[in-house]
Amino acid sequence: MAPSNGPRNGKGAKSSQRHTLKRKRVQDDLSTLTQRVEELDLKEPYKNFDNLPLSEPTASGLASSHFKTLTDIQSRAIPHALKGRDILGAAKTGSGKTLAFLIPILENLYRKQWSEHDGLGALILSPTRELAIQIFEVLRKIGRYHTFSAGLVIGGKSLKEEQERLGRMNILVCTPGRILQHLDQTSFFDTFNLQMLVMDEADRILDMGFQKSVDAIVGHLPQERQTLLFSATQTKKVSDLARLSLQDPEYVAVHEAASSATPSTLQQHYVVTPLPQKLDVLWSFIRSNLKTKTIVFLSSGKQVRFVYESFRHLQPGIPLMHLHGRQRQGGRLDITTKFSQAKQAVLFSTDIAARGLDFPAVDWVIQLDCPEDADTYIHRVGRTARYERDGRAVMLLDPSEEPGMLKRLEQKKVVVERINVKANKQHSIKDQLQNMCFKDPELKYLGQKAFISYVKSIYLQKDKEVFKLKELKLEDFASSLGLPGAPRIKFIQGDDTKERKNAARAAAYLSSDDSDGEGEKKPKKEEPQVRTKYDRMFERRNQDVLAGHYSKLINDDGTMVEPSKTAGANADADEDDDFLSVKRRFDAGDKELGGESDEEDEKKDIKVVELDGKEALVIDSKRREKLLKSKKKLLKFKGKGTKLVYDDEGNAHELYEMEDEDDFKARGDAKDQQAQFLAEETERTRVADVEDKEVDKQKRREKKEKRKARERELLAAEEAEEFMAQLPPPGGDDMSPLESEDEAPRPSKKQRMRTPESESDEEPKPKKSKQAAPKAPEQIHTLEDLESLATGLLG
Ligand code: ADP
Ligand code: MG
Repeated sequence: MAPSNGPRNGKGAKSSQRHTLKRKRVQDDLSTLTQRVEELDLKEPYKNFDNLPLSEPTASGLASSHFKTLTDIQSRAIPHALKGRDILGAAKTGSGKTLAFLIPILENLYRKQWSEHDGLGALILSPTRELAIQIFEVLRKIGRYHTFSAGLVIGGKSLKEEQERLGRMNILVCTPGRILQHLDQTSFFDTFNLQMLVMDEADRILDMGFQKSVDAIVGHLPQERQTLLFSATQTKKVSDLARLSLQDPEYVAVHEAASSATPSTLQQHYVVTPLPQKLDVLWSFIRSNLKTKTIVFLSSGKQVRFVYESFRHLQPGIPLMHLHGRQRQGGRLDITTKFSQAKQAVLFSTDIAARGLDFPAVDWVIQLDCPEDADTYIHRVGRTARYERDGRAVMLLDPSEEPGMLKRLEQKKVVVERINVKANKQHSIKDQLQNMCFKDPELKYLGQKAFISYVKSIYLQKDKEVFKLKELKLEDFASSLGLPGAPRIKFIQGDDTKERKNAARAAAYLSSDDSDGEGEKKPKKEEPQVRTKYDRMFERRNQDVLAGHYSKLINDDGTMVEPSKTAGANADADEDDDFLSVKRRFDAGDKELGGESDEEDEKKDIKVVELDGKEALVIDSKRREKLLKSKKKLLKFKGKGTKLVYDDEGNAHELYEMEDEDDFKARGDAKDQQAQFLAEETERTRVADVEDKEVDKQKRREKKEKRKARERELLAAEEAEEFMAQLPPPGGDDMSPLESEDEAPRPSKKQRMRTPESESDEEPKPKKSKQAAPKAPEQIHTLEDLESLATGLLG
């Protein structure tokens, strides 16, 4: 990087001349670049990055990351994007879509001479945190010689910390929910200047699950902007495009004419396996592939946990990992990093890892549970056979799923070949699992949850031609999980979870005078003769879980729940509310294990609190007890209060009270009074407006003064520097300082539009870079690493 502190006593005239020369050179380079972009031939298939009109920092970033030739999608999409066109990009998994949008972002902002004063220039949306982190890492890699600031906004840490950084970011990679939170709540986070919006895995971001957030986000963004949408399964739905106000988008679909929607280097198979034998097949597969790297997809987090825990007990002889949405952010990061680095490992995962993740060198993708649709299939298998590598995929289908799923795949141009499992290689682990579940109540509990969540997910699936709950052998499935019997499940109408939970609690309260009330709630449960404290605790938790599920799923009249209309079935199963509450109860129980109190004591504490004529509130846990201390939380149960105002005599009045009608009439005709009121209010607002504008103007003026002063200081510093004709090549390390003072921020035209900035802008830049740069880690291992990434500036 360029030396930033040259001798400061150099003589003015000469340096100033050099400075002017340098500026001129930069300007000339810029206009040449701009002209080359304008002259770009959109029909020409560009092969090498060298042939594209790219800025020096981007070209260097690509070269240092060893990117030389463009992939098809890059060669087709980048020229259009450089010219500012909206793009719908579709290309198979692993074909390099990330660079196809990152390069145009860097370039378009660079040509506009975007600086920290211009605020947010580009927003990249990703459906999952993991993918956002990955995109951010690629951005950091190829953008390292740029002076833009870039941040990750994915949740997992406090809103406030993120808020402080947002004001000064040029490029943000984020998940929809979190960025929306900021757009709504962070006052100095402005997007009015935004130039580019990118959605990676666009079809996923545009589908039901994210619909509300995305619409709200788009509502915060300026209409005049460039929008790029990328996915392997691209949406062309007119309604979606209208939602994003795309302007005459260029549809760049490089593999549309291909015979298959999946990479040609991918071998795809399926095995017809009755549901109760799935785990046996998986176990046998893992045992016979100990030297490979495999991802196993399951339909819910609970399934993932059970299979992971039980296989871990069985010790297959290869590292096992698991990933699902309910893990702590830190844990999720650790796992993705570990799996990326592993040579041999098995990762059990929900569809959280189905999209976009670029784990190096995955050999196999196993779909233990049938994907919800062909698109999900395409993305799941896309975790292997990436960028010219080979890969293999196997899907396990229950006989009832086979015809329907094959039809769906065929419709999407996916060709799969049926194979059989060698009978002599298949081991049954049923007995071992039953043994383990018998000895380990924890595992049995996970098994029950897994069973219920699987059945629920099948029930909620939209495609009834594929998923036929009635044809599954559920009893056998339960016993294949090691359970003594299938938890009884029916489905009910209506879904007011809160009321149901309260009802369950009320039932607990009603039966609590019974010496062993828990037994009452679920008479079918067999009780051991001698019950320890631990037994009771475990039962209680188990029953709470099942009660929770029952209250959701079971109804005596046996009517069926409408499949969820909002979220995908799998997501729903994964994000089950119950889980959290159960987990918390268990934690409390855990603590009590070593302490004095036991279940009976806890029961004695149950009390009922009457709330202003509303339903009584049953306080049967510490968590509920805490609730009593929070006015805000109690509001939910009490309903809203009314606001009163007090007059001089101390009498309470409603905020808006009707005036005495006679008094009102005495003041004249109602119409006249209305007109007079309006006139007065209009005048008041006008005066207030003038004042506001004056204050605003004043603030802008001060801001401008400050900026100018800062620029003058920088200029003075530069004048003292030696003239540097060329930047020396940057040092070998990836974490080079972020901004060279050599490249002082040039105020751009855009600044004229800017509103007063946040105070964070006042910080002297070098200080920022000193704070962030040296800490920016190469690999993300911990939350702290992630945090420093988020503070980090590119370069
Ligand atoms: P997609 O988003 O299409 O699934 P990615 O952008 O994740 O694909 O890229 C897949 C892999 O290909 C990544 O490991 C990436 O580093 C590599 N890659 C992308 N573009 C190129 C290129 N031009 N040359 C070499 N490798 C590339
Ligand atoms: Mg991608």
